[in-house]
Parts: sequence; structure tokens; C-alpha cells
Amino acid sequence: MKRILLEVFLVAALIGAGVFGFMNQKQASVSKAKITELTAAVEAAEKSAKEKEESIKAAEEEMHALQEEMAPLEEKTNLLEAVKAALASGSTLTDLENAYKKEKSLSAERQAGLGALRMLTKGAEDPGALEAFRKALQLSELGDRKNTICAAQLGLVAAGEKIKVMSDCLPKSEKASKGDKEEKDSKDDGHGKKEDGKGKKDDGHGDKKDEKHAAPHWGYEGEMGPEKWGKEFPTCSAGKSQSPLDIKGPFVKSRVVVSADYKEGPLKMLNNGHTIQVVVSPGSKLRIDGVAHELLQFHFHRPSEEKIDGKPMAMVVHFVHKNAEGKLAVLGVLLKEGNENPGIKTLWANLPKEENVEYAPDGVNFNPGNLLPREFDFYSYEGSLTTPPCTEGVRFFILKTTVNIAKEQVQAFPFKMNARPVQALNGREILSN
Ligand SMILES: [Zn+2]
Repeated sequence: MKRILLEVFLVAALIGAGVFGFMNQKQASVSKAKITELTAAVEAAEKSAKEKEESIKAAEEEMHALQEEMAPLEEKTNLLEAVKAALASGSTLTDLENAYKKEKSLSAERQAGLGALRMLTKGAEDPGALEAFRKALQLSELGDRKNTICAAQLGLVAAGEKIKVMSDCLPKSEKASKGDKEEKDSKDDGHGKKEDGKGKKDDGHGDKKDEKHAAPHWGYEGEMGPEKWGKEFPTCSAGKSQSPLDIKGPFVKSRVVVSADYKEGPLKMLNNGHTIQVVVSPGSKLRIDGVAHELLQFHFHRPSEEKIDGKPMAMVVHFVHKNAEGKLAVLGVLLKEGNENPGIKTLWANLPKEENVEYAPDGVNFNPGNLLPREFDFYSYEGSLTTPPCTEGVRFFILKTTVNIAKEQVQAFPFKMNARPVQALNGREILSN
């Protein structure tokens, strides 16, 4: 166990050094090419005498500036080369892959780490590295793991993929060149302070050593509240099919057939700082018109994010699924205050003590089906993730039948309020079966 932890730490460090190095290496080669160009320009200009003296000067100045810029970049590139040379034999990679073979599924962090190590060992074109980064990105976008999202996005860019990188993931120099460095920095300070205060008040987790980097950049109130999400995650404010919705008529008749086939598996819980999430082992499925959507995780909101005719319920469970084409589908089960819920009892008895650390209690199994009602009548609409990055193209099915939860169980949920307000319908249809 210690060994795997050690390797995970090594790999985490490599993500930093490696990915940053790759970015700088790219910048270095661009700068090198510019110097060659400018040298030629200087030579040509010299031939055509005095009136061009000024342009020569300007070119020379730019060349000197670039040369100065090059020095530290070259240092970093050399460091990266040294790391790559040390890993070239591939035995470190083989070791890590063997260690991970026992795992049924890897966390986003481990996928990103594996991607970084593959890239450093086998080069940026390695398909295994690309695959690992893509998986890491898919997994981390469903939660809120900014560092992992950054590692995976930068990894893909370093490998030549044309994807959009979140502005906070870019190395400092690139941010500065975009002219928003000062604004960003002062904003970050504000975030940091807010976050510390909030962390302590909410749940007493606030002093972990990596807190500053792991700190979420969004929340449910004040400066980081839902109204501000769009600053950092544009889809949250610009999107036209956002979730959640206030569900009310008129409804369009739905003929879609939905059924859940959930399986019991070992319980794995995560407090990601925004909700309690249960990570589900492969094998549980939601069938939508016969098409299987694999259950990835489920999590809770208090109160329910969806409203029915303007009214929220005590809580909601969101079961998050994905089909083979990558399309997401969320099944929502509204929890209404009433009798004790035995499924919730098991879950709450195993709440993680620490944030952002997956907790798998020994010998505890759980069947997500325990949280479903018998009837499967639903409302349905096209929406989005209800948390940043608010990605759209998510199909929602909100069951009409509610499930009971005791008042004490609602109160025992570690988050007092973690529901995004309802969003504009913007002409979308709400279906009902
Ligand atoms: Zn949710």
C-alpha cells in the first residue's frame, strides 16, 4: 500500500514537472524559430544601408529580449530531458501499471498520473498516454477536481490535441501574455481568503497542507456562488439549456422507456467539498429505450435542485450515467421528509472523515437500487451538469414518485445548502410519460 502511495506521489510530482516542462519546451522551440527569423532579418537589413538603421535596432532589441526569455526556458527543458532519460527504460511505468492492474477502475488522479508517466516514458505520441488523459478528464469533469482537470487538459495539449484549456490551468507566463495577470492574481487572493473562512465554518476542513491548490473555485453562496460561476466556467452563464429546472406543465408526452438495473457492489464514498458522492463499481446500468447507460456515481443535493410546481423537496439524489458514445444521463430521485430511509442510514454511517479522499469501509456493500422507488414515471428534459463546468447535453429523468427520508437524516447530511437555483427554460420542452 505504502509503495503505491509513494508511486502516486511520484507521479503527481511528475504531472507538475512533466506537463509544465512540455509546455515550456513548446514555447522554447517557438522562440528558437523566431530568433532564426530575426537573425536573417538583421542580416538583410544591414545590406540596405543607413535609412534602415532603426528597424535593425528594433529587431536587435527584440532578439535580445527573446534570448533572455530563452535562458530560463532552456533550463526547464533540460530538467525535463533529465527526467525523461531517467524513465526511459520503462521499468517505472511497468511497475506502476502492474500495481494498478488489481484495480477495477482507476480514479481521475491515477489516470492523469499514468498518462503523465506514459508520456514521459514513451513520448507525447503514445496512444496509451492520450487514452489515460482522456479518461482522467472525463472522470474529473464529473466531479470537481481542478488540478486533475488541468493535468489532463495540459497533457492532451502537450500531446498535440486541440482542446480548450481552462484559463487557470495555463502556466503563469501565458496568463500574463493574455493581459489578465493582475486581475487574476487579485481575484485568486480573494478566493483564497473566502475559501479558508468558509471551509472552517462549514465543515472544519480547511487546514490541509494542499488546501490552497485543492480549494474549489466555486460554492453555493457569496462571491463564489452560482451567480459568479460563469466568470470561470462560461457555459454556466451563457448556456441555453442549463439545469436544474422548475418542472411544471404544459408537458409533452414521452414514449421513452426507462429502467434501472443496478447491482450491489463495494461501497466507496467521497466528500468532494460540494456534496457526498458514492462512486459506483462497473456493472450498474440505466436503460433508455434499450440503450445501456453505465452508472458512474450518485450524489446528493439539499434541498432538491429541481422544483415541482415551484416547490423543492428536502433533498434529491442524482444518479449520473454515461453511454458508450459518451452521452450523459441523470436520473433524479426526490427525497421527501418522512420515515427513516434504510439505504441512507447505511450511507450516512459511512461518511468520509476527510475531504477529497475516497473512503471504502471494509466489507460494506451497497446496492444503489435501494434508493429507487418502485414506480418509474418521470419528467424528462435536456439539461446540463448542475455544477461547474455546467456542461450541456445531459438528459434528465426526474422520477415522479418520491422516496422518504427522515428529518434527522436530512439534518445529518454534511452540507446545509448545495443546490443550484432553477435555470431558465429557454423554450425547452419538458416531457412526461
Ligand atoms: Zn447533482
